[in-house]
Amino acid sequence: MRRVSVFGATGSVGRQTLDLIGRAAGEYQVVALSAGTDATALAELAREHRAELAVIADEAALPELRARLTGSGIEAAGGPGALVEAAEREADWVMSAIVGAAGIAVSLAVAGRGGTLALANKETLVAAGPLLMAAAERSGATILPVDSEHSAVFQALAGEDLRSVERVIITASGGAFRNRPLEELAHVTVDEASSHPNWDMGQRITIDSASMFNKALELIETKEFFGIPPEKIETVVHPESLVHALVGYIDGALMAHVGPPDMRHAIGYALHWPERRDLPVARLDLAEIGQLTFRAPDPARYPALDLARRVMETGGRAGAAFNAAKEQALDGFIAGQIGFLRMAEVVEGTLDAMSAENGLGNAVDDLDMVMETDRTARDYARRLMRADRE
Ligand code: NAD
Ligand code: MG
Repeated sequence: MRRVSVFGATGSVGRQTLDLIGRAAGEYQVVALSAGTDATALAELAREHRAELAVIADEAALPELRARLTGSGIEAAGGPGALVEAAEREADWVMSAIVGAAGIAVSLAVAGRGGTLALANKETLVAAGPLLMAAAERSGATILPVDSEHSAVFQALAGEDLRSVERVIITASGGAFRNRPLEELAHVTVDEASSHPNWDMGQRITIDSASMFNKALELIETKEFFGIPPEKIETVVHPESLVHALVGYIDGALMAHVGPPDMRHAIGYALHWPERRDLPVARLDLAEIGQLTFRAPDPARYPALDLARRVMETGGRAGAAFNAAKEQALDGFIAGQIGFLRMAEVVEGTLDAMSAENGLGNAVDDLDMVMETDRTARDYARRLMRADRE
């Protein structure tokens, strides 16, 4: 029996992970499942998958979780500290799929303990990449990327020498507004931004896809995970979302990873690695698809991409600041406080303010420093958004 835990179990990636685990339930013992606030959904999943432990991040929801688990024999715990303790529990394979900076501590705890970390929470690599990789190095933990593009790069690199990589190309669907006239973007609504043309994902990453902040995070993720220098990382708009990434080698070969836009491929690959198993994803009929299209991203439409370049060049605390400012701006957009295009300006303004203070490029030594940078960036971003309303 493989012992597995899923953090962010009630989310889009978490549920798809449990779907795959549930199909071969006899092979797995579920150790811990976690959720942010939804005790009802968490208790249901914990009972269904016979978890040992259920952790709710919101402590106020712990009594509700306890009540729902009465008689099940499943342990219940609550609060961010309990999340980290659960991440430190012995498990062979752990999915880190909490959304946002709230998932960083869990990823770091798993990497520090050892075993296999299936990493969907890209924010960990963006805000704390060197810390995560160093922790895994020390403990001997294996980290497998679960973001579809990074799983694709990982697969296209298998058996190759990193020194013969000339470039990595991360594809981008272009998101919800890829065909909207630029002058209309200032007035798009949260509802419109929350629907993705190809992928079915959580609301936050869906909006980040429309603004390309998701792609910006993924460029940084590529640098941190694979150690590829920024100048070798490219992005191309590919509206069909069938080619997930390409690796270009020094002999001119391009190895592309092609598959349906279904996260269960990347999740299943990480679950069964180094083997491949039959997965319940559609098989592509290329003749029916007919053609694949690609185009260069328009920098005026997607300012987040230039901001990612700046973050990669600055390094150090810039990733944590960038991610936190982005999360705060996204909260502001969802709450109707700022317009869609204002998000990138708020993030840029935050980076400007923090560069002026100096030390943005200083290396992050530990999780405390990451979280302190995160708080400072959120304060700046909030101030910029408040100034908008005054
Ligand atoms: P989601 O919003 O659907 O689910 C998020 C999960 O995190 C839920 O279980 C929620 O309860 C939990 N959560 C939210 N806030 C929390 C907090 N403060 N503390 C503890 N738990 C909290 O998100 P998702 O779309 O599944 O994305 C999860 C992660 O995977 C993100 O980092 C995202 O960027 C990444 N990712 C997602 C997809 C996708 O297809 N959805 C693809 C690639 C990468
Ligand atoms: Mg992705």
